[in-house]
Amino acid sequence: MAPHRQGKVIIFSAPSGSGKSTIVNHLIKKYPQLEFSISATCRAPRGEEKHGKEYYFLSQEDFAQRVRNDEFIEWEEVYAGTSYGTLKSEIERIWDKGHIIVFDVDVKGGVNLKKIFGEHALSIFVMPPSIDELRHRLVKRGTDSAETIEKRVAKAAEELEYAPKFDRIIVNDELTVALAEAEDVVGKFIEK
Ligand code: ADP
Ligand code: 5GP
Repeated sequence: MAPHRQGKVIIFSAPSGSGKSTIVNHLIKKYPQLEFSISATCRAPRGEEKHGKEYYFLSQEDFAQRVRNDEFIEWEEVYAGTSYGTLKSEIERIWDKGHIIVFDVDVKGGVNLKKIFGEHALSIFVMPPSIDELRHRLVKRGTDSAETIEKRVAKAAEELEYAPKFDRIIVNDELTVALAEAEDVVGKFIEK
């Protein structure tokens, strides 16, 4: 990518159920210059999710073909058999509008994107108060099967070890406190 086209990016990572989507959605409403990077995935849509809104839902074959074509800036098999990735075309789409990209990616993707974008990136790790609270939130959200929830919780301990690699850690215990902190950190980065 040519340097003159380089815009800013904000990277959010967290164990599933930490409240990352809640925080990201709040920030996007508050700051209109932020735009969510729509990832590609080969998992099925959940609840009300729509192709081209939360994700580009691709078949496993289509996803694999795009990996071979080098269409992704990064991708990970986040859960066994289920890959997620950021298409290079998505970055062009958002920067072309002069917007700041907001990534919601797993911890490995977050660390990779920070390496790629360096000073142009703000990376934020959303930390749950505890693993028990994480499980509780996933159960209460009611969008995943018991088996999926256990898979996600089992992964959380390993994911927490990545927290120090991020520019900022926001603990999401009391939601209003976490939202205020996120607004402050992101607001300062936008002005920079
Ligand atoms: P993630 O995107 O990290 O998987 P979500 O934003 O979907 O997490 O949050 C998981 C669930 O927990 C949702 O039902 C959400 O409403 C709820 N939640 C988010 N933050 C808090 C909080 N601080 N306290 C209690 N529940 C929360
Ligand atoms: P979910 O299935 O709950 O929507 O997301 C599962 C995990 O995949 C989350 O941790 C989410 O951040 C991650 N994820 C979503 N898109 C991407 C992506 O493009 N790249 C990477 N590396 N992870 C992603």
